[in-house]
Amino acid sequence: MSAPASVSQARPVAIPISDTLPWLIGAALFGLLLYYFVGIDQGATSVFGDNMYIHELVHDARHLLSFPCH
Ligand SMILES: [Zn+2]
Repeated sequence: MSAPASVSQARPVAIPISDTLPWLIGAALFGLLLYYFVGIDQGATSVFGDNMYIHELVHDARHLLSFPCH
């Protein structure tokens, strides 16, 4: 059994790095910011001082991801 002569093949699309780099940097910064607020923002390392609003907001996610808390 032979393949038909007019079979089109899928070709990868080349995306220039200048188009993807801003998205990559933005996603990395967003991930680091999310990581900070979920995992690290507490007590002396809190950017908002002594109030615990962010900590309480992400508290369940913090324990779900096994970050130390109390
Ligand atoms: Zn806790």
